[in-house]
Amino acid sequence: MLAYVQIVSVPSADTPGACLMLHFDNRRYLFGRIAEGTQRTMVQRKVSLAKIRDIFLSGAIDWQATGGLLGVFLTLADLKAASAADLEQVNAKLRSRGKQDTKSVPAQLNIHGGKNLVHMLATARRFILRKALPVHPRELRHDPRSDESKAEPDYEDENIRVWSIPVSVTPLKPSASEPHSPKKRKLGPASDAEAEPEQDLAEEEADQRIREAVVKDMFCSKWNLDTLREMKLKDVQLPAKIFIRNDQGHIEPYDGPDPSSSSCPDINVLVRLPWPAAKIERLPPTSPAQRSMCYIVKCHPRRGKFNVEAATKLGVVKTDFKRLTMGQSVPGADGTIVTPDMVMGAQIDGRGFAILDIPFPDLIDPLLQRHEWSNPEIMKGIDTMYWILSDDITVSNDDRVQQFMKTHASIKHIILGSAMCPNVPGLESPTSQLIKMNGIDPQRFPLPVFDTKPRSDLDKELELIAEVGRPGLQYQLAPRATFITDGVVPVMDTKRPIWELMTYAPQALERASAARNAIAAPSFLTEVEKSQHDLPSPETEIVPLGTGSAMPSKYRNVSATLIRVPGWGSYILDCGENTLGQLRRCFGYEGADEVLKDLRAIYISHLHADHHLGTVSVIARWRQLSLPADRKLAIIATPKYQDFVREVQSVQHLSGERLLHVTLRSTSGRPMPGTLTKTSFPDGVDPEALGLPRIEACFVNHCYEATAVVLTFPDTGLKIAYSGDCRPSATFAELGRGAHLLLHECTFEDELGGDALAKKHSTLSEALDVGRQMRARRILLTHFSQRYPKLPVINEAALGTEEEKESRDVDVLFAFDMMRLKLGEFKQAKAFLPALRELLQEGEKQEEEDEE
Ligand SMILES: [Zn+2]
Repeated sequence: MLAYVQIVSVPSADTPGACLMLHFDNRRYLFGRIAEGTQRTMVQRKVSLAKIRDIFLSGAIDWQATGGLLGVFLTLADLKAASAADLEQVNAKLRSRGKQDTKSVPAQLNIHGGKNLVHMLATARRFILRKALPVHPRELRHDPRSDESKAEPDYEDENIRVWSIPVSVTPLKPSASEPHSPKKRKLGPASDAEAEPEQDLAEEEADQRIREAVVKDMFCSKWNLDTLREMKLKDVQLPAKIFIRNDQGHIEPYDGPDPSSSSCPDINVLVRLPWPAAKIERLPPTSPAQRSMCYIVKCHPRRGKFNVEAATKLGVVKTDFKRLTMGQSVPGADGTIVTPDMVMGAQIDGRGFAILDIPFPDLIDPLLQRHEWSNPEIMKGIDTMYWILSDDITVSNDDRVQQFMKTHASIKHIILGSAMCPNVPGLESPTSQLIKMNGIDPQRFPLPVFDTKPRSDLDKELELIAEVGRPGLQYQLAPRATFITDGVVPVMDTKRPIWELMTYAPQALERASAARNAIAAPSFLTEVEKSQHDLPSPETEIVPLGTGSAMPSKYRNVSATLIRVPGWGSYILDCGENTLGQLRRCFGYEGADEVLKDLRAIYISHLHADHHLGTVSVIARWRQLSLPADRKLAIIATPKYQDFVREVQSVQHLSGERLLHVTLRSTSGRPMPGTLTKTSFPDGVDPEALGLPRIEACFVNHCYEATAVVLTFPDTGLKIAYSGDCRPSATFAELGRGAHLLLHECTFEDELGGDALAKKHSTLSEALDVGRQMRARRILLTHFSQRYPKLPVINEAALGTEEEKESRDVDVLFAFDMMRLKLGEFKQAKAFLPALRELLQEGEKQEEEDEE
């Protein structure tokens, strides 16, 4: 049996959390924090999620520790669906040959964690719909070993035993029921006894059952997306999708008067009922928990070696050997009884490791004082301790932690904390590409910010027993306990991309140099000045932070674009997972804080997970910056998303009073694509006095309540239009008429028009056509589905006739992650396109060779 634990991610801008994968042949486990960016790191490291059955979350249940979890679910559900489809093919083949089906894929995921785990998952019910992946949360709300004499684990399976160690400032009480049977714990929620009077326990338990039911509904329900129920129109409860049978008997969307209106006709309609979990408007109350979860994990002990010689000497017949190894006594020579201990070596302890997670400095003492660390029975076999530390916690300046390590000097201490680990590029592929693009056009592609030296030193004595964690480091538990460094990911050689550029793509460099000369020519500058003299706010900077679709991929992160408008501050348009990390990689930690200090609004176009899983971290960081107390951050979104942001505050501090919910509502009660929204501000708020641009939006054809937005800055007249995800929208084109900047999705290339229609996205030419109708001056295309970034060829006809193009002075560019583009410099950027195209073609060739 081979078992090892491997560091998957160490804290960096790309991977804010530290996470470990425990590997057994038959299944895998994740331990630690599943922060934003975890899944993308796994893609980069070629670590598969497929065999994961259990995730043990360490630390507190907040967005810092769990922000990547929802993305992991979605990917796992896709993987499961794909493998189920494969399996069905295999089974069909078997059946056709008259054979039996093979076993189905065991598809379920257990999530273990501390207080608020179920609540946190339930907050996602508005955007995680029924998935092919049953998720079972196991929230530990009591102390499984408040009785210090107990040494039993609280989780056990065929591979491992786990001791969950909850840490809190005030001690937790034991569960009302007997807490020591893992089976029992799995059956029902345990009560929370943290300083709460006895009579509240029943209520708390009832609340927890409601949350559990919601989560069960999200992941395991039999609800069918295609079920339509027939009912009287007047009985329909909104929101619901309403359909009607037309004269031919075909089903089509109903667009008549609302059920609530007085002109509501007395007819039968078909209703697609909303997802049942989504109907729960409010979850039972809870509050952020100042707690952490730590773990001790061990393999099972193994039996000692069987001594064949001794058994033979005692007269045991060969056929009885097996019974002895199974613990049974057998007859020996002359009627004696041979017991297993007479022929078996001593039992070999299972090896193991511990995870000590310190999310808040206040928890250091209670964590170090836990009795498990000094219980020889529990600690037997523990060779390694992984320390997961939040941003402001270091080892070098904390005597208590240092002393603890020195007391456990026979154990290797591995430190995973951002204050200790250097901010190395955690995603080598996009970093390498950005460095090469910098070699082509340094104005548009500034170098990413990183450092490679550990940030804080350990003293001589500690150096012998502790080290800063490196991704890929393995600690093997079985067959023999040992560290394996072969897989350690070397610190990225950031000079190599330049060498590759010079060696493999010299033509790209030649073209880049030609572009540099061309844009420096006085005639070019005169021409630019002439054609865009009326372009307002040319210093406006556009920074695409994520330009891919669906899920974080190797080269492109999920949707987010930063716009910095001089005099008006910064705006984030959609905010996919790890937008904060992308900002930090782009501007450095301090630079990102400076950008955030200037942040005025975050706009979320729709509820697909790839467009908003980064919002909570951005808000959380924003509130930590020293800003005047009356500074507000606007969240521009439809009601459902606003509800999510309000609700997530029950498990995460976000300074809700400083958030300004600017809600995009339907005027009719039904958000029909093509209709305008009403932009509503909280009561008593004067939009004029807020210093925000004019915000106009319309519903677009993509998913329920999907919107596109237009921001107009009154002093200069600057108009920025952003599509979100959608089929081409005439209403949006009308709303954005005369936009100086259009950001439009173009998920599919023109050949894939059918996919675009089916998945409700736009093709490249459709996006350009919206720009033509809008008469947009500068168009930046984004949201690409391809694996390797390309520069597609533009169908110029879609942009309009030559005269039209000439008269409106239009330029089109393609967005790349971490590009920095000024509104007034599209023409300069365009000059480098031939060089970029050359570079990307060469890159694609190399990528294909690497894959082979
Ligand atoms: Zn979408």
